[in-house]
Amino acid sequence: MAGNQDHFKIDANGKVYEVDFNYVRDNVPLDWFFEHMLDAKAKPAAGAVRYHICPNPECAASSIHSVKVSVKDGGWLCYACGKQGDVIAAAAFYWSKTHREAGLELMRADIDMLKHYIPPKPEDAIQRDDSALALVLQKVAEAVPYPCKDALKYFAGRGISEAVAREASERGILITIPNDPFRAKSFLTEVVGQELMVKAGLWKPDKKAPACAFRPLWFRSQSHCAAEFRLMRDVKEGEKKAMRYGGKSPWIWEGTTDEFMIVEGPIDMLSAVEMGSKRTIFTLPGCENWEPEWFTMMAEKNVLMALDPDKPGFAAVQNLMPVLQALDTKLGNYNPPNRVGDLNEQLKHMRGLLR
Ligand SMILES: [Zn+2]
Repeated sequence: MAGNQDHFKIDANGKVYEVDFNYVRDNVPLDWFFEHMLDAKAKPAAGAVRYHICPNPECAASSIHSVKVSVKDGGWLCYACGKQGDVIAAAAFYWSKTHREAGLELMRADIDMLKHYIPPKPEDAIQRDDSALALVLQKVAEAVPYPCKDALKYFAGRGISEAVAREASERGILITIPNDPFRAKSFLTEVVGQELMVKAGLWKPDKKAPACAFRPLWFRSQSHCAAEFRLMRDVKEGEKKAMRYGGKSPWIWEGTTDEFMIVEGPIDMLSAVEMGSKRTIFTLPGCENWEPEWFTMMAEKNVLMALDPDKPGFAAVQNLMPVLQALDTKLGNYNPPNRVGDLNEQLKHMRGLLR
């Protein structure tokens, strides 16, 4: 495009010596770069759009089902490698070029095509109040002190016994609500009230029912100000198995030894307990979702990492290793022969529940 010539300066030898970075930022949408250059699929989230591919080639793609890069107001941030920046920084990382070279390359993008590009829209940011969320969780936990029948049936199908499920409730980790969205909604309205649900960010005021009414398995985090809400059945195509609300916080199942085990997600936590581990099961809300400070309690202790034997799991082990080594832990990686999958898969296998 002829118009582009005004936005960079060329010296007598035809070499570009200055790029108008603001012009690039204003004309090349960051989401366009993710969608068209990285071939990433936009996942609108509250207040931001998420992607599973990082522009940093050393970080690259996570599982298509997870997301690690957040794009907001023309800036991106990767939760896995910590890199961030604008569209020029993204291009510079991706093409392994200087910012100037990357800026220049971006200016060659077809302006007409960019004009017709419709960027994905973030969902409305929910103003949530963590103390309200904590109160909701507390009220529901008090109203249902034991797991409901449907939950026990679901757990049984995954090899998790009633004793372990009950203990999870007693420990304040597991909370269950009716497995029927209509009953769940009226239960929540009665026990908690719509106003507090809205304040907690669990109920969008324009929605007929809160999303968590459709996910009856609740796992309250260690902070009590966060929880994961899960379906009590197999996931259908395009459906989200679990939703998390509240700040980043692990689940910790205190054991009877001073040894630790690191797992991902509450089902694997319960599976580890069910399989008889006496360790403290330290459960990450996602294998890329943790803070280094969490692990200081493991200093000089025996720590077994039991994350999923898949690409994100292996990557998480690589990322956790230096943090745990710096704490002088005695580190092991759980890798039994013929490992079939995550801990729950292994449990189901042991119980003969796999077809
Ligand atoms: Zn990254």
